[in-house]
Amino acid sequence: MADGRHHPQAPNPENFDAGELTNAFEQLMRNKRFNQLQEQSRVQSRTQSPSPAAMSPSLYPPHPSRAPPPPPPPTASQYPSPQMPQQQQVSQSPLLRSLPIVPAPPQDPASLKFRNLLHVLSVTPTKYENPGLLDEALSHIPLDRLYSEAEEESQIMQAQAASVGGKPEWGYQDCVIRALLRWFKRSFFQFVNNPPCSRCFMPTIAQGMTPPSPDETARGATRVELYRCSEATCGNHERFPRYSDVWQLLQTRKGRAGEWANCFSMLCRAVGGRVRWVWNAEDHVWTEVYSEHQRRWVHVDACEEAWDQPRLYTEGWGRKISYCVAFSIDGATDVTRRYVRSPTRHGKSRSRAPEEVLVWVIHEIRKKRRENVSKTDQRRLMKEDEREERELRAYTASALAAELNNLFPRNSNSGRLDDQKTPTSRQDAAMEWLDTRQRSSGHSGPDGSQDGR
Ligand SMILES: [Zn+2]
Repeated sequence: MADGRHHPQAPNPENFDAGELTNAFEQLMRNKRFNQLQEQSRVQSRTQSPSPAAMSPSLYPPHPSRAPPPPPPPTASQYPSPQMPQQQQVSQSPLLRSLPIVPAPPQDPASLKFRNLLHVLSVTPTKYENPGLLDEALSHIPLDRLYSEAEEESQIMQAQAASVGGKPEWGYQDCVIRALLRWFKRSFFQFVNNPPCSRCFMPTIAQGMTPPSPDETARGATRVELYRCSEATCGNHERFPRYSDVWQLLQTRKGRAGEWANCFSMLCRAVGGRVRWVWNAEDHVWTEVYSEHQRRWVHVDACEEAWDQPRLYTEGWGRKISYCVAFSIDGATDVTRRYVRSPTRHGKSRSRAPEEVLVWVIHEIRKKRRENVSKTDQRRLMKEDEREERELRAYTASALAAELNNLFPRNSNSGRLDDQKTPTSRQDAAMEWLDTRQRSSGHSGPDGSQDGR
């Protein structure tokens, strides 16, 4: 990842095993049955909706669930009646499912534990909302330099766009964050694995954890790693306090992904960006910044100097991911689908709580963060949630379409996984299919009740 790019492997059709093919065809059959059911329910409710049956059969994405077809979706209520068998669907590929989820409060110990964790995590970005802190942060940033770099990059993008008669890819504010990212990674923050010996500068060997000293505690370290110098005649011990306090990080300027993401997210806030701190259950964290220019949240990983490469972790590093939850001062969002485009390849079991509980907790955090926000802003945020939900759903549609292409070799050169930045007619069809299902299932979205799924 040294060049900050990743090159997803083109999927090899030979990699599909017979079991996967069988599953896919079973899904196609279920899908056909599902569409018949859906068609019946639509005829009963509103005949003007576009019918997925109008698509050619080869364009059908597989049914997102590996289970038998669900009953015809409800058409009237945002919150379907309690007899909907939602609670029983917990174990089915939740990332692929687009049926509405009825939020349910946590009850079992595991769900309560997950809820507590999410609430604790959600506090992280609220710590950035401190004028004294942001002023202090700004005093560390070479603003003039970053602004002129951003200006230059922005002008280049405008010129490039003008030469082909299009719109520049990124706006000036995006370029400011890009300049901040370069400076942060190259000049400001240091990555620490084993800290070198401060006495003789030789490498050190990990010795495990040690209790924080009173001074370290006072400065916000709850965990301290201990290292011993590898030079036998030295024997010096090095302490590595893990600070989660952003004030402290401005001083120490070092750490691993946790410190990097925390400090960088705060600095994005300091230069005026809208920022999210993204927690991943597989022990990584990163940042998302809102691009007003593109009207969407953009993935930024300070450790990797990665900008807008959400598929880095799965397709780049080959990781399997269960949950990615983004926290901001405006609430929380399950953004897993942005990072896991193909749940069948890169999804990991989401077993911390039923999906209904996760949705419930996300709503709870949003409500809490937005309670002192004006009605106008609440509506704006809700619109944003809806737009993001459509974006996330489009990724699922795109992945479904790509996987279908791989199942039918005659189409194999028309749309592979690495072509997904360019919409194909197949992707559009899959998207339309998901939209249709969502509409016909009564999803109107404004209250975000299905967000994050
Ligand atoms: Zn030493």
